[in-house]
Amino acid sequence: MQLLKKIKFIAVHHSQRKIDSLKRIKDLHINKYGWEDIGYHYLIDKKGKIQKGRNEKFIGAHVFGHNKNSLGICLIGNFDEEKPAKKQIQTLLKFLKNKIKKHHLNKKNILGHREFSGAAKTCPGKFIDMNKVREMF
Ligand SMILES: [Zn+2]
Repeated sequence: MQLLKKIKFIAVHHSQRKIDSLKRIKDLHINKYGWEDIGYHYLIDKKGKIQKGRNEKFIGAHVFGHNKNSLGICLIGNFDEEKPAKKQIQTLLKFLKNKIKKHHLNKKNILGHREFSGAAKTCPGKFIDMNKVREMF
């Protein structure tokens, strides 16, 4: 896997479908897609617990055209159909705060997957308002 040299963006995702655990997403990415490791760097489960995906020193596989300079975080759930758990959002905000500081990022570079150009997706779901997320900083 290639090294992730410079983190410029953080891409927020949801897991969509009924893939509801780190184990199942990992299995999908490795055994079905044939990737070397899970595509996301971090996941946040429904209890608000952070789970580690791909080591953040490596380039992930989560946002077409922007993997080389972005960190991928995936909230478990389908937020086109349901609202995220409060704890998930609390953890996400804490996580983003830490990463912004660590990588000297501008809050405008925290984007939902759908906000990247060329991404014809709803990810991370209509119940996650990215403007609201950015307003928290
Ligand atoms: Zn996504």
